[in-house]
Amino acid sequence: MNADELPTLRDELQTHGLWANKGLGQHFLLDLNITRRIAKTAGDLGGKQVIEVGPGPGGLTRALLEAGAHVIAIEKDARFLPLLEPLVKWSDGQLRIVHGDALEADEAALLQAGRAAVISNLPYNVGTPLLVKWLKAGPWRGDMTLMFQKEVAQRIVAKPGSDAYGRLAVLAQARCQARLEFTVPARAFTPPPKIASAIVTLKDRADPYPHLDTLERVTAAAFGQRRKMLRSALRSLTPDAEALLNEAGLEPTARAEEIDQAGFRKLADAWRARAA
Ligand code: SAM
Repeated sequence: MNADELPTLRDELQTHGLWANKGLGQHFLLDLNITRRIAKTAGDLGGKQVIEVGPGPGGLTRALLEAGAHVIAIEKDARFLPLLEPLVKWSDGQLRIVHGDALEADEAALLQAGRAAVISNLPYNVGTPLLVKWLKAGPWRGDMTLMFQKEVAQRIVAKPGSDAYGRLAVLAQARCQARLEFTVPARAFTPPPKIASAIVTLKDRADPYPHLDTLERVTAAAFGQRRKMLRSALRSLTPDAEALLNEAGLEPTARAEEIDQAGFRKLADAWRARAA
């Protein structure tokens, strides 16, 4: 299967009279070299199930199909459905398009069985909520290869002590090994967004932290006032924040940005122990 035999994406957009809708975070990758690189970054996709959010004109979808993946692509914008129809035919049963909002999609039900990699050039406006949804997902969810705005990508992979380190890093790294693979300049997109983007891979870690909701709560409090000492910042969680920090074995004078993954796990465990 070679996507070079298909009409160009630019021609397809023109034929269907389609243009990008900013409200839906539409910035398209029309260069197959880039979409092929993204597919390659996801590893061997031969015969594997893939969930893609927002196929749009189908540039990344083409590369995924070419790599041998079985793709379920969820698109919110109905205007793209007629353009994607020939791709479904070309895929010979490897592509299914679902019209809907990915935030509300029940991926496990769509898949019916097995696991799926999640590979997407995400719409910027819903990239973070989608990531959090997938971090919490059940056993259907495999490794993720996702395009975000560069600044969001940096927040996902950030380490303690850096300005980018915050809730998103703690939540993402509680479940996954996160790696920023490469950046893509704004000019590679049609239309170009204001800033660059980056591809992040998120692979399940051997010891995922199970209580992500608790972690969301404690990190919201801790990073809500990130410049303050934790004994003050955590007062929005509990009036005896200092005691909670002692229970977690953490220094009450430490600041959120100094606490590593292990520290936040201890804090979330201490908070859970109180509720038990
Ligand atoms: N994959 C295409 C590419 O790389 O050229 C398009 C990527 S574009 C950044 C984001 C796509 O996500 C658009 O097609 C947009 O319509 C779609 N989209 C936006 N919000 C969505 C949502 N909540 N659920 C599903 N698709 C959505």
